[in-house]
Amino acid sequence: MTPLACPACDTRVRVRKASVTQTSIQWGPDAASTCAEFARRTAVEHRDITAPGCTALFSAIADAYADGSLPRID
Ligand SMILES: [Zn+2]
Repeated sequence: MTPLACPACDTRVRVRKASVTQTSIQWGPDAASTCAEFARRTAVEHRDITAPGCTALFSAIADAYADGSLPRID
């Protein structure tokens, strides 16, 4: 897992990328208190707990994967 911080809210997560479409994100215990979007999504869309998170973090993950700083791990 590669540590990564959300550029918008500075929530720290650990990310594992197995392919372009497959991403595992391990949220810290304080994610809901540091990331407003994460808190809102988990509150509103609590049935969809497979994809909690925030847009800024998702694009940061995509960028890190594109520039090679997030290695692909099979
Ligand atoms: Zn965030």
